[in-house]
Amino acid sequence: MNDPLNNSYYQASANAWVPQPVFTGGEKYDVAVIGGGFTGLSAALACAEKGLKVALLEARSIGYGASGRNGGQLIPGLRWSMRELDEEFGRERSQAIFDLAYGAVDRVKQRIDRHGIQCDLKSGHLEAAYKPAHFDAMRRDTEYLEKHFGWKSETVQPKDLEKHIRGGGYYGGIYDSQGGHFHPLNYALGLASAAQQAGVSIFENSFVRPGDVDAGAVIVATDSWLHEIDERLGRYTIPIMNYNIATQPLANWEAFLPSDAAVADSRFVLNYYRLSADKRLIFGGGEKYVQTPPADISAFVRKHIADVFPSLADTAIDYAWGGAVGVTMNRLPHIGREGNIFFAHGFSGHGALVTTLAGELLAEAVAGTMGRFDVFARLPHRPFPGGKFFARPLATLGLLYYALRDRL
Ligand SMILES: Cc1cc2nc3c(=O)[nH]c(=O)nc-3n(C[C@H](O)[C@H](O)[C@H](O)COP(=O)(O)OP(=O)(O)OC[C@H]3O[C@@H](n4cnc5c(N)ncnc54)[C@H](O)[C@@H]3O)c2cc1C
Repeated sequence: MNDPLNNSYYQASANAWVPQPVFTGGEKYDVAVIGGGFTGLSAALACAEKGLKVALLEARSIGYGASGRNGGQLIPGLRWSMRELDEEFGRERSQAIFDLAYGAVDRVKQRIDRHGIQCDLKSGHLEAAYKPAHFDAMRRDTEYLEKHFGWKSETVQPKDLEKHIRGGGYYGGIYDSQGGHFHPLNYALGLASAAQQAGVSIFENSFVRPGDVDAGAVIVATDSWLHEIDERLGRYTIPIMNYNIATQPLANWEAFLPSDAAVADSRFVLNYYRLSADKRLIFGGGEKYVQTPPADISAFVRKHIADVFPSLADTAIDYAWGGAVGVTMNRLPHIGREGNIFFAHGFSGHGALVTTLAGELLAEAVAGTMGRFDVFARLPHRPFPGGKFFARPLATLGLLYYALRDRL
C-alpha cells in the first residue's frame, strides 16, 4: 500500500475481506449509511437488525478512516469525567449519559461475542499520571465515579505501577479492568461481515453525498471528512493528525508492560501504547495541527517512545501510520438529526467504544425511537469560530496553548 499514512500494522494483519463493488445506483433503500468506520458499520448492522433495507457506502475501503488506524485503546466513558458531566448537566441527565457511555463497553463486547469477531480483545486499561496534580484529580474522579455511579476502578499508587508499566516515571494511575484494547481494523471488518450477513449491501470506493442514494433516511458517519459533504455541519469538528507506530515483536515485552494492559498518560497531547497480539509495542504520541504528515513518521513517534522506555529508543519500527482525529469544541461527540439526515461525529479521540453505541442510537432514531438518541443529541455544541478559513488556525492556537501547559 502506497499511502504513507496507511502503512499500518493493522493493514498487514487484517483478517480476510472480499472487496465490495462500487455503488452504481438503481436500487431504493430504507436507509443509506455513508462511511464504513465503526459508527457507520454499527448503524448499518443495527438498522438491518430492525428489518430495514440498508446500503452502506464507503469512499475507500472498510475501516479506511480512524476506525482502522487508531490506538485500539478501549477507554470506558467520554472525555469528560462523570463529576464534570454531573456539574454541567445535573444528575438525571448525567445518569442517562453514564448508562449509555459506560454501557458501550458491554455493547462492544457483546458484538464481538455474538458475531465471533477475531480482534485480539484484551482486558485492562491504565491511565497514568504525568504530574502529581493529575494523580490527585484522577483519584477524586475515580472515587466520585464509584460513589455516585457504582463504576469500580483501581487506584494504583506510584510504587505499585510496575505491575502494569515499567517506564515513564509516572506519579500513579487508575487501572480499569473493564477497559482494554483490540485490533481496530479487524473489529471493523468483523462488524462489516456481520452487517452483510444481516442483509446490508456494502459498497466500497464509493464517495457519495446524502442526495446520491435513493433512500428514505441517510446516516452520515464520515467523522473528520464531514466538511467535504456538508460544510456547515463539518465546522463542528476539526481534524487533528495523530501518529502511531508498531515495533518489531518484543521478546522481553514483560519488561515494559507486564500485565498487557493498554496505557494512556494524562497529558493534553498524550502518549498511549499497548502490545499487539504478537507483542509489538503499538505506540501513539505527538499530534500535528497541520494535515501534512511528518517526513518520517517513525522518527516523529520514536522520540516519545524514548521518553517512556529509554531502552527501546533504537528498537526497529516495522510500521508507521497516522490518521485524523475529529475533535469538537467541547470534546463531546456531536450527534443529531436534520430532517431525514442523521449524523454522529467528533468523538474527540475517545471513539473506539462509543462509536458502536452511537451507531445503535442512530439506528433507533431512524426507526423512530428517539429517547436514547436524544440523550446525546441534546448535548450543547458550537461550531469552531472563525468560519471556513480561520476556524482551523484559531483552534490550533488554542490547542498549542494546552499542549504548552503540559510542559510547564
Ligand atoms: C491515530 C488515531 C488514534 C486513535 N486512537 C484511539 C484510541 O486508542 N481509542 C479511542 O477510543 N479512539 C481513538 N481514536 C479515535 C477513533 O478512532 C475514532 O473516534 C473512531 O474510529 C471514529 O469512527 P467513525 O466511524 O465515526 O469514523 P471513521 O472511522 O473515520 O470512518 C469514516 C469513514 O467515512 C468514509 N467517508 C468519508 N467521506 C465519505 C463519503 N463522502 N462517502 C463515503 N464514505 C466516506 C471514510 O473513508 C472513513 O472510512 C483514534 C483516532 C486516530 C486517528
